[in-house]
Amino acid sequence: MTVNIDWNALGFNYMELPYRYEAHYRNGAWDQGGLVQGNELTLNVGSPALHYGQSAFEGMKAYRTKNGTIQLFRPDLNAKRLHDSAEKLLMPPLSAAQFLDAAMRVVSANADYVPPYGTGATLYLRPLLLGVGPNIGVAPAKEYLFTIFAMPVGAYYKGGMVPTKFMVADHADRAAHYGTGQSKVGGNYAASLQAGKYAHEHGFGDAIYLDPIQHRYIEEVGSANFFGITKDEQRFLTPKSPSILPSITRRSLLALARDRFGLDAEETRIPIDSLAQFGEAGACGTAAVITPIASITYNGEVHQFGDGGIGPMTQKLYNELTGIQFGDVEAPAGWTVPVPLD
Ligand SMILES: *Cc1c(COP(=O)(O)O)cnc(C)c1O
Repeated sequence: MTVNIDWNALGFNYMELPYRYEAHYRNGAWDQGGLVQGNELTLNVGSPALHYGQSAFEGMKAYRTKNGTIQLFRPDLNAKRLHDSAEKLLMPPLSAAQFLDAAMRVVSANADYVPPYGTGATLYLRPLLLGVGPNIGVAPAKEYLFTIFAMPVGAYYKGGMVPTKFMVADHADRAAHYGTGQSKVGGNYAASLQAGKYAHEHGFGDAIYLDPIQHRYIEEVGSANFFGITKDEQRFLTPKSPSILPSITRRSLLALARDRFGLDAEETRIPIDSLAQFGEAGACGTAAVITPIASITYNGEVHQFGDGGIGPMTQKLYNELTGIQFGDVEAPAGWTVPVPLD
């Protein structure tokens, strides 16, 4: 079957595909789960996911290679992170094996919707774990629903990366140090909508958050992690904090910066008043891979990185990572996982 989609015109938009995966947790155990059709859920109005934010999610992509095969990028880390998010919110974790099997089945069943190689477009997978069932008191749900749905999404940057201006959200925190910042949970996003809207309305790509205690150290960008490359191109630095979401893209860039480009790559505290050390900076995450940061506005001052364009090391890291994801560059052991097609 061929589907009639203009792959080059895709953005990051919802689309219903033929199949998604669904599994249920009842009476203390996950069922086998399987593929289902239709994207509407019927939930009890008392579901804790709806009232009390007992919900976690993931974001990952399936990539079409030059040979026409399809592969996932480090899906074991998505499985592990959902496990960690679930534990934090007292939800029963799924086994990594069930998570991976579910992701494989969704990709395989919707294989016609995995965009062709060369378009830069991918199949985006959204795993979602919800506490459901008739409840009203503040307590963990007794039943859970896990689903993975998917949709083709366009290359984030069609004609190459686009440097973007960011502003520091100096009167808003995304997450607290002992809160849920390390977990990929819906509530963190609800908490970032207001500062994000403010940033957009003022001409910025998004808000950058500072640590919630001293408002001095960089945390992350609403839905992406921060990194900076020092002016001498010797160091790749990214924030160390208990309240940022451990990005798989960032973890991968740390490894590539160190192992393939010989940089000194580390997680460390990065004071907002130390931006002058960086010649390049970026925001990283699955959706955009890397968004080069042109400038950061803080306390009315604009700090520009380099000439505000795409730094050379940022470009190298982007090419290396996307090359690995699409199968053009040799991947470190275990980073790419082929999807069996039936
Ligand atoms: C998902 C997410 C990221 C990016 O993580 P990746 O694993 O690289 O996609 C960064 N920050 C937040 C808050 C996130 O939810």
